[in-house]
Amino acid sequence: MSPPISRRAITFVEVGPRDGLQNEKTLIGTADKLELVRRSIAAGAKRIEVTSFVNPKRVPQMADADEVCAGLPDVEGVSYIGLVLNARGAERAIATGRLHELGAVCVSTDGFAIANQGQTSDESVVAAKAILAMAKAAGVKGQATIGAAFGCPFEGEVSQDRVVAMAMSLAQANPIEIALADTIGVADPAHVSRLVRRVVEAIGPIPVRVHFHNTRGTGIANVWAAIEAGATVVDAALGGLGGCPFAPGAAGNVSSEDVVYMLHRAGVETAMDLPALIEANHWLAEVMGRKLPGMVAQAPAFPKPVQE
Ligand code: ZN
Repeated sequence: MSPPISRRAITFVEVGPRDGLQNEKTLIGTADKLELVRRSIAAGAKRIEVTSFVNPKRVPQMADADEVCAGLPDVEGVSYIGLVLNARGAERAIATGRLHELGAVCVSTDGFAIANQGQTSDESVVAAKAILAMAKAAGVKGQATIGAAFGCPFEGEVSQDRVVAMAMSLAQANPIEIALADTIGVADPAHVSRLVRRVVEAIGPIPVRVHFHNTRGTGIANVWAAIEAGATVVDAALGGLGGCPFAPGAAGNVSSEDVVYMLHRAGVETAMDLPALIEANHWLAEVMGRKLPGMVAQAPAFPKPVQE
C-alpha cells in the first residue's frame, strides 16, 4: 500500500524558462532567462527545463538556446533539462555539454502530431525513442512526455488506451520518467486520476510526471488528483506563464507558487521555498511588464509570518 498522501514528497520541476516563456510575444533577453534560472535555484528547484532546441523561425523565443546553456551556473545537485523534438535538436542539445537531461516529446493524436511536429502520432513515438537512445549514448539522462494526453485541439477526446499504449512503448527505451501533459488545459481531476493510475500500473517502477495548464481553471485540482493517483514529479512555471498556440486564452502552466502553496499546506514535501518563489514572481512580473496569472503571489502570506 502507498503511504497516505500527507506523508509523501514530490519532485518539483520548474518549466518557466522554457514552457513559461515559449509563447510570449515579447522576446525576453538571455540575461533575464538566466536570472529566472538563478532565482528558481535560489527557491529550491533541483530540476529546471531551461530551453528547447527547435526551429527558431517557429519559436523565436527559444532562438538563444545555445547562449542560455552557455550561461547556466554550475550548481551541485541541480539538473538542467533541454526539450528536443527531433534528432537534430538532440544533437544540438548534447553539443552544448551543459544539459543533464533531454526531454523528448511525442503526441497522442495524428492531428496534433502533424500540426506540431509534421509526423503521425506513431512516428512521434519512434522519434522520441530515438532521442532517448541518443541521450543514453551521450551519457545524458532521457525522459519523455506524451503531449495532449488528456485531449486534443484537433481531434477532441483522446483514448486512454492509446495513452497507456504509448507509455508502454516509451518505457521500452528506459526513460528516467514519463510525463503526461495536458497541453491545452482540458483535463479534469477524475480523468487525471484514472489515467495516471493506469499509466503508473503499466510502466512502474518508472516514475510518472505530470504537466498541467490552467486554461480552464482545473490545473491545480488536476495536480492534486495526479499525486493521489501516484504521480511523483510535477511540472509548474513561475507565475503561471505559458499559453499554448493551440489553446487561445490567457492562462498558462499551473503556477509554481500556487502548486507549492497547496502541497505544503496539505503536508506534501516539495523542497521548495515559497517566500523565495513569491519574490521571484514579483521580479518576473516586472520583467514581463504585467501581473502574472498565479494567485498566491497576489494574496497576503498565510499563515502570517511571525514577527521577531
Ligand atoms: Zn506545457
